Amino acid sequence: MNKESFIKELSKLNISLTEEELNKLDIYANFLIEYNKHTNLTAITNIEDIYLKHFYDSLTIVKAIDLTKINNLIDVGTGAGFPGMVIKILFPNIEVTLLDSNNKKITFLQELSQKLQLTNINFYHGRAEEYSKEYRESFDIVTARAVSNLTTLSELCLPLTKINGYFIPLKGSNEEEIISSYNAINKLGGKVEEIIKFSLPYEDSKRNIIKIKKIKNTPSIYPRRYEKIIKYPLK
Ligand code: SAH
Repeated sequence: MNKESFIKELSKLNISLTEEELNKLDIYANFLIEYNKHTNLTAITNIEDIYLKHFYDSLTIVKAIDLTKINNLIDVGTGAGFPGMVIKILFPNIEVTLLDSNNKKITFLQELSQKLQLTNINFYHGRAEEYSKEYRESFDIVTARAVSNLTTLSELCLPLTKINGYFIPLKGSNEEEIISSYNAINKLGGKVEEIIKFSLPYEDSKRNIIKIKKIKNTPSIYPRRYEKIIKYPLK
């Protein structure tokens, strides 16, 4: 996806980019390509793919939520910043927290943030299970892309979501995975409100954005230790 198509496709999502935002994304893409030569951050290294499969894909979250109206958001397992860093660049009003257990990725994001002179952005190197001990039910929006299956991910993310806030994972097209997580979501205090289905432009890969509302407190026994989450998935 070249930059013209990127701008055109985003306008269909009602996003208009300023020159400054486009410039920041350009710096991001180039820094990612350079950094990736010595530190493995992403398998996608071609500039047009970065615009489509990382930048555009990250911003499709606006299909689920009006990002101009929220105060804070956490991206769990952000990797090289997807979707959280892209959201921060386009919606600087939001206090964004980027969390990952891989320190190389957090260091990359901190360096990028300095380059872009971003403010009101937090970084956490560590596991989501640990972080939620301190920041339980603190975020309006919790998002995650490509971290784990929805049952596991819900146990990591719903404890962080405020009551009446939303957990919004960006997923592929695995319907079975989504349906089989409903009970777990319910136990964790969430309710699936909507599933938004679409395909990426210029290629046919299918996407599901799941809009999960936090309707009740998460019982304090969750999240369990990671080994337990994996070994005994919630049913
Ligand atoms: N969201 C990014 C990265 C996906 S790779 C993208 O879509 O491109 C998955 C990332 O999740 C990895 O960087 C890994 O370190 C992180 N991760 C997996 N489990 C985690 C956990 N329990 N807590 C924090 N980070 C986790």
